Amino acid sequence: MAKSKNSPEETSQTSTSADLLAPHSEEKTPADLNRRNEGPVDSTDDLGPLDTFADAHSPASPADEPENAESEASGLAETSIEADSSAAESVEMFDSENADAQNPQQVTLEFLQQLPKAELHCHLDGSVRVETVLDLAEKQKITLPANDAEALRRVLVVGEDCRSLEDYLKAFEITLSVMQDAESLERIAYELVQDAAAENIRYLEVRYSPILHTRRGLRLTHIVDAVNDGLKRGERDFNVVTGVIICGMRNINPDISYHLAELAVAYKNRGVVAFDLAGAETDYPAKKHREAFALILRNNINCTLHAGESYGPESIHQALHYCGAHRIGHGTRLKEDGDLLNYVNDHRIPLEICLTSNVQTRAAKSFSDHPLRFYYDYGLRTTINTDNRLMSDTTVSRELYRAHLHLGFAMDELVDLIIFGFKSAFLPYRTKVKMLGRVYDELRSKNLTARTQRICDAEDRL
Ligand SMILES: [Zn+2]
Repeated sequence: MAKSKNSPEETSQTSTSADLLAPHSEEKTPADLNRRNEGPVDSTDDLGPLDTFADAHSPASPADEPENAESEASGLAETSIEADSSAAESVEMFDSENADAQNPQQVTLEFLQQLPKAELHCHLDGSVRVETVLDLAEKQKITLPANDAEALRRVLVVGEDCRSLEDYLKAFEITLSVMQDAESLERIAYELVQDAAAENIRYLEVRYSPILHTRRGLRLTHIVDAVNDGLKRGERDFNVVTGVIICGMRNINPDISYHLAELAVAYKNRGVVAFDLAGAETDYPAKKHREAFALILRNNINCTLHAGESYGPESIHQALHYCGAHRIGHGTRLKEDGDLLNYVNDHRIPLEICLTSNVQTRAAKSFSDHPLRFYYDYGLRTTINTDNRLMSDTTVSRELYRAHLHLGFAMDELVDLIIFGFKSAFLPYRTKVKMLGRVYDELRSKNLTARTQRICDAEDRL
């Protein structure tokens, strides 16, 4: 990918090799970590065609490509929507190192759905129900590329022909076309909370850029009010705590980002919990939006930035050091700069990991190539998110399950990822401690591994 705007003088640290992880990195190298993928994996638990498609594009470890993968891949090619039922079949993950061998908790999609979870990176315009898009388009007399749910889903769920983040973002034009009035925004926000609650999300941060919903003249404040109303109604009905992240847009004039930052300030403590920078990453460096982030930081508001997804670690460097990011959206290419990776680790800056989205946009060559396993083992605070429930045809439970299937995450490690999600929430500290206490109680009641029990019993709750 050609480098253009992020010139070397804009970044101070551009080391580009994982071997620069020394001296911090005695513990693990990517080669070491590959060995962890050797656990038993049952390919019948693939969640959809993407799992097999993705791994076909890169050399896979034996565990990633069992002998019968080819025949099963062809069978799976047409079953992405129905995948939940087949995926619910169990995969036993015996952890020979712990004392739970007599009663190992089986990692199944069904079980992961039952666990309490947080989601920190979820786009409103990427998480609409297909049926709702159809219904709203009919009411609003908008022509869609397809008129039945299955055909429209095939258009909206990003497939193998996606070559980049920029390609991936094209599908949003369709959802945005029906998200230009307050009633629709309220409904979509409400339904998202309902969908999240269905897989036991207890804390949900929803992000969107209000400027993308002004095409029919809706005022920015009315947009935020409408989404807040939908989320609050969802909170009441489904027992989910929600927060909004307002997004500035990389590929729109930085003055607009500043204006959106002002909007976030106005709605601080009224539903908005943070500010983000989204949109096409290549050619649109974060530092051009630093005035917006300076305003956010001066007002003691949290911020996260999409970075290191379709551009290299220089982009993450800018997010952290020009914009003051408290979390990083994706960070997939952080591994290319060991010095920066150590900084992120040392400062416990959470990464909002979105496995499926990363494979779709080619930020990762395949699930098994994703750096999540390395990041986790190295000690980074990694959280699991959907990015876009519609375009990526996924849920947090599915993302966790994919971490298990493709990267060998055992049950106690999956619980770690879940806890990291709650710990990384943009909630006031005291509120977060209380929420985490409830999560620990619930996890403890699930009779998980001994290590998980110890995690939940630990006094150090954050
Ligand atoms: Zn995103």
